[in-house]
Amino acid sequence: MANKQKFQAIKGTRDLLPPETELWNRVEQTAREVFGTFGFGEIRPPIFEPTELFARAIGAETDVVAKEMYTFEDHDLPDLAYARSDLKMRNPSVDNLPGIEAYRDRLGDLYAALERAFHAGAVPRTPENRHAITRLGDLSVALGDPSLRSELQGLSHDVRSALEQVKLGDVVTLRPEATASVCRAYIEHNMHALTQPVKLYYTGPMFRRERPQKGRYRQFYQIGAEVLEALQQGQGGAKDIPKDAAIDAEVIEMVMVFFGRLELQGVQLEINSIGDRNCRPQYVELLRAELLKVKDKLGADSQRRIETNPLRVLDSKLESEQEIIAGLPRIGDHLCADCAKHYAEVKRQLGLRGVAYKENWRLVRGLDYYMRTTFEIAAQGLGSQNAVCGGGRYDGLVELLGGPPTKGIGFAIGEDRLILSLQEAGKGGGAQGRDVYIAWMGEKAQATAIAAARTLRNAGFRVELPPVEQKFGKALGQADKLGSRYALILGEDEVASGQWTLKTLADGSQAKYTEAALLEFLKKPCSSPLQG
Ligand code: ATP
Ligand code: MG
Repeated sequence: MANKQKFQAIKGTRDLLPPETELWNRVEQTAREVFGTFGFGEIRPPIFEPTELFARAIGAETDVVAKEMYTFEDHDLPDLAYARSDLKMRNPSVDNLPGIEAYRDRLGDLYAALERAFHAGAVPRTPENRHAITRLGDLSVALGDPSLRSELQGLSHDVRSALEQVKLGDVVTLRPEATASVCRAYIEHNMHALTQPVKLYYTGPMFRRERPQKGRYRQFYQIGAEVLEALQQGQGGAKDIPKDAAIDAEVIEMVMVFFGRLELQGVQLEINSIGDRNCRPQYVELLRAELLKVKDKLGADSQRRIETNPLRVLDSKLESEQEIIAGLPRIGDHLCADCAKHYAEVKRQLGLRGVAYKENWRLVRGLDYYMRTTFEIAAQGLGSQNAVCGGGRYDGLVELLGGPPTKGIGFAIGEDRLILSLQEAGKGGGAQGRDVYIAWMGEKAQATAIAAARTLRNAGFRVELPPVEQKFGKALGQADKLGSRYALILGEDEVASGQWTLKTLADGSQAKYTEAALLEFLKKPCSSPLQG
């Protein structure tokens, strides 16, 4: 029997289809236009990067890095990979002497093969690999020593953990966000040597292994932008505060202009300052101390975060924790003088730009690299996943990734949620439709119809040209189903006289035009609502 297996998109991923993709294109096109007017250029970084880049930039303790990344070893050593996973699954038993011998042989073979591959550079020549391979060799010797048989359990456990540490190739990750990539590219291409600041935007898919639900996918799309500015000689410190704050405000203004252009509904901007490396550590310690006092009343997640990342407790949506959180110390009361000045200046600058905002002292962000300004924007129609944009300042990130001292501010818009909100508000229009359906009849008319289709398409109209002749009634029905505005009727009479019949489908009215007059007529704005 034939194999009838049906393939489906992987959980948390989906196909975006017409006519919805038209809205996606409109959104992205609007982003390009608006960001272009603010002087941003497009960057298209790769979809995968070294895992270490994200771990370093985003922070090993964050949810994203700790549990949401799609990571794999990139190698072409299938035999070694097979031998490694085979050995990992074996569990030699003390009562089975031949089994132990076979286990040891396999380990010895793998060890020898790994040594060769390491020397040839076929596996990464990292200190970690050197260490793990040597360890495998030692373990293979130990397994041959009858006096150590009683420790077999421990030895095979050690073999497994050493195998775990051997990397057959580069470890790479599908990007969960793009800021780290943009910073990597900034460093790699010496963009600090360009006129500063460098303003870049990107659009594209991101990958996080989260629980799929409305507005949350495993492959989702972001539209984001970053402003990066390497410190020049004599720059930095308190005198830069007005400039930095103005840049923050302009970046936020740009997102608001973009959302305004799209007529996104219920837009709410929230801002906060989370301090910098001078004042935040003290606040975090204070917060941790206060949280420890109420630890018993907190949920498991928050209890864990007291140790790993106390700021994230402020993010909690758990009903039972809200009252406790309301009583916690607020970072706004603990900012150092420079951070306080910066925050006040950002608010003044937003005021100058007529950007309405709400302050939210609990707004911290899930990624480690933020400092001072953080912001989030919500829109309507999204339920509990209502954040469509998150961003903030990240001075120091480029340096952390090995570049020169550099300031940064940026944001990422969740395009899936943006689209959802536009659709919910009925702003998702732009059904596909056609401008003109060419109803041609008779062999002689086909050549004219083909030429007419080409002329109209060259002028930018959406044209449907049926591949075979149709009866008049069927052609009109088809034109209607496709949402066409006009049917261009080309029968033998029309071809002979050069006077073409144009039928307006909404009211059934008809008029005759020469080709040139037809083009004139269709180009009038009122006659072609599908355009523009
Ligand atoms: P959230 O708290 O909603 O999970 P986040 O803080 O993880 O958001 P960021 O990393 O700041 O999100 O990403 C910016 C934006 O990207 C979010 O505001 C959201 O609109 C969108 N986003 C993040 N994760 C997803 C996802 N899994 N599916 C769809 N959109 C997402
Ligand atoms: Mg998240």
